[in-house]
Amino acid sequence: MTELIFLGTGAIRPQTPGDHTAMLLRHGDANLLLDAGPAVLMQLHRAGIDPAAITHVYFSHQHGDHMVGSVVLPFYPGFRTLMGAAPVLEAWRQLMHVVYPGLLVRLEPQIAYHPLPCDHAHPCPALPGVTVRLALAHHGNVPAYAIRLDISPSADAGTQGRFSLVYSGDTTPSQAVAKLAAGVDLLIHEATYLESSGEDVGEVHSSARAAGALAQQAGVRCLALVHRSAGDPAVWRDEAAGIFSGPVLTPLAGDRLHLPNDLAAFCR
Ligand SMILES: [Zn+2]
Repeated sequence: MTELIFLGTGAIRPQTPGDHTAMLLRHGDANLLLDAGPAVLMQLHRAGIDPAAITHVYFSHQHGDHMVGSVVLPFYPGFRTLMGAAPVLEAWRQLMHVVYPGLLVRLEPQIAYHPLPCDHAHPCPALPGVTVRLALAHHGNVPAYAIRLDISPSADAGTQGRFSLVYSGDTTPSQAVAKLAAGVDLLIHEATYLESSGEDVGEVHSSARAAGALAQQAGVRCLALVHRSAGDPAVWRDEAAGIFSGPVLTPLAGDRLHLPNDLAAFCR
C-alpha cells in the first residue's frame, strides 16, 4: 500500500499560516517529499514524520513557497535523493550556497542529485517499481514542471495495484500538463484562485474552473485541488465540478489517501 499525505494545500497566502502546498508519498521504505515550503518541518511534525526519514525530495520549481523550507533538511541525518528538472536542482544548489556556504561540499556523500528529463518516462532513482516523467509547465518567469508518477505497488500485484498520479506544481492551464496527465488516476492540480471571484492571475496560475477543464480534457479519474488561496474549499470544489465530471477533492493539511484503494472508493 502506498500513502499520500497532504502536508499543506494552500497558496502563497493560505487560509492557515504555513499551509503551503506540499505532499509526502510513502511507498515501501521510501518517503518522497513533493515540494518543501517555509513551514515544511512543522508540517512533517504534525503528520508524525521524522525529517530524517525523508529519502527523496522533489521540487516542482524554485519559488520560496515550494523550496525554501528544504534548506534545513540536510541537517537531519540520512542519505537523500534530490530530484527535479536540472534548472530547478541548480536553483536549489545556489540557494544552499547563499544560506549555508560550503555546507554542500561537506554533505556530498549524503546527497544524490538526480536531474529528471522531460517528456519521457524514467525509472525513479532508488524507488523500485516507480517511474517518473516531467513536463515543462508555464509559470511566469521561472522554469516550473509537472511530475507524473506511475506506481506498481509490488511485483506480484500485477496490474491490480497499479496507479498513476500527476502533480502540476504551479502553472497556468497547460497543454503539456494535460498531455502528461492523460488518463491518470489522480491529478493533483493547482487552483490558486476562483474564476467566479473576478480575480485573475492567469499569467502564472490556474483557476479552479481551469483545473476542472484540464482534468476533463485529460480524462483523469479523480481531481484534487491544491495551492488554494484563502476561502471555503467547497466553493473551489463546486467551480471545478461544474466542468469536470469525476470526483473533485479539496484536501486539507493532514488528509491522507491510501492508494489505490481510496481512489477506487471515490471513483466508483
Ligand atoms: Zn510558484
